[in-house]
Amino acid sequence: MLNPADAAFLDRLAASCPPGLLRPAEPRDLEEPRGRFQGRAAAVAMPRDVAEVAALIRACAAARVGVVPLGGGTGLVGGQVKPDGPVPLVLSLARMRRVRAVLPDEEAVVVEAGATLAELQAAAEAAGLVFPLSLAAQGSCTIGGNLATNAGGTQVLRYGNARDLCLGIEAVLADGSVLHGLKTLRKDNTGYDLRQLLIGSEGTLGIITAASLRLFPRPAHVATAWLALPDPEAALALFGRMRAALGTDLSAFELIQRTGLDFLGRFMPDCRAPLDRGPWFVLAEVAAGRHADPRGGLESVLAEALEAGLITDGVLAESLAQAAAIWRVREAIPEAGRLRGAIASHDVSLPRSRIAQFLRAAGRRIAGIRQGLVINCFGHLGDGNLHYNLFPPDGDSPAAHRDIRDALSEAVHDLVHEMDGSISAEHGIGRLRRADLRRYGDPAKLAAMRAIKAALDPAGILNPGAVL
Ligand SMILES: Cc1cc2nc3c(=O)[nH]c(=O)nc-3n(C[C@H](O)[C@H](O)[C@H](O)COP(=O)(O)OP(=O)(O)OC[C@H]3O[C@@H](n4cnc5c(N)ncnc54)[C@H](O)[C@@H]3O)c2cc1C
Repeated sequence: MLNPADAAFLDRLAASCPPGLLRPAEPRDLEEPRGRFQGRAAAVAMPRDVAEVAALIRACAAARVGVVPLGGGTGLVGGQVKPDGPVPLVLSLARMRRVRAVLPDEEAVVVEAGATLAELQAAAEAAGLVFPLSLAAQGSCTIGGNLATNAGGTQVLRYGNARDLCLGIEAVLADGSVLHGLKTLRKDNTGYDLRQLLIGSEGTLGIITAASLRLFPRPAHVATAWLALPDPEAALALFGRMRAALGTDLSAFELIQRTGLDFLGRFMPDCRAPLDRGPWFVLAEVAAGRHADPRGGLESVLAEALEAGLITDGVLAESLAQAAAIWRVREAIPEAGRLRGAIASHDVSLPRSRIAQFLRAAGRRIAGIRQGLVINCFGHLGDGNLHYNLFPPDGDSPAAHRDIRDALSEAVHDLVHEMDGSISAEHGIGRLRRADLRRYGDPAKLAAMRAIKAALDPAGILNPGAVL
């Protein structure tokens, strides 16, 4: 049984740690973007280096006090907030945000966990390289949080998710020992890969304090297209044609339902799509090195697609500013949805070939529960990842439909499960999807996960109540 981080524990901690390590919790430490969970914390610890993190964890382990790691607080499944049970200590990485080294010859960077994704992107850019992880929360989310959740985003198609971009990790384990794993090697087959175990563990197996990450050459040419399509089947057929013609130069392929543009028109009217006639849209991006300009290739695939009726209209960005404006439309859709107020949100992945079938069947199942709900689907179609969010009819509040929230999510997730998909593609399990993991998870995998947790964190102090 864990103990609360009570006043006596905090006094002992303050006496044994350097001054200024602890501060009272502020509202923003205890909130999460969707407002589903309200966190609690006796205090927030703000360590400056890995030695201070280790000292904190040793103290918490000795007193059997739970620790919740906090990055940018943008996680969408409540992993960063503990609403119940013994009151924990929140461990913020905000003071550990140094870029320790940019290593162009290794195409690598070593960065502390509290750096924001945008800060890391800027450091890579300054060295003439790119760190390709890209998500709408990049101004706030941290590298530690990105790795702890194995974040995805808009460039997974070409570069993979956070897991694929990580070469090494420095972390503090539950007994306070420090895992020194910041090598920049591409090849290192020396036993179990603890780096991969920590990635996606959502703070339940260790505190990530720093990471070595892959950098890539900056594409010399980028072409961005905004396309209108009749239906998801056309989007899938277009994706197949683009992959065949452009190969790995195709770096992003995002699907957007018209509903998202309607939400933008209402709540963020400054954010306008270059064309908005049609039920479905695709944002496609092609990027290539100095010796190949992908624009010509993109134009010829799009001309064929227009002829075949796969697209009905399209715009190719003429400038970097126009490309950025198109990306802003895509990235603002989650925020517009938040302002509209969802009843239930889902982050699912499916075998790409089954996406159109999923969308039809899901629509029928939702209508069978309640007529008139508004569906807003968007996502990383190239990765088979859809955000499938359900809203009340115009004029109704989400609260008026709360009675069916669980039934809606169960209908969506049952269908995903039947179709060999995943009920959490990129956001993780946190606290929101724990019951879903139990319901849909493979029993052998769940048993192995529990055994790993018991072996690495026997007292259960690391992010108690998250994931398992
Ligand atoms: C507008 C918006 C758009 C988003 N778009 C995407 C998207 O496209 N793709 C995507 O994958 N996600 C997306 N997200 C979700 C979110 O940004 C990611 O999950 C992100 O990786 C979380 O990082 P963070 O620093 O905010 O972590 P937090 O929210 O602070 O924490 C998330 C989890 O990681 C743990 N954690 C944090 N730091 C550490 C650490 N140093 N060591 C160990 N555990 C730690 C926390 O305890 C918690 O369990 C989006 C969120 C928003 C609000």
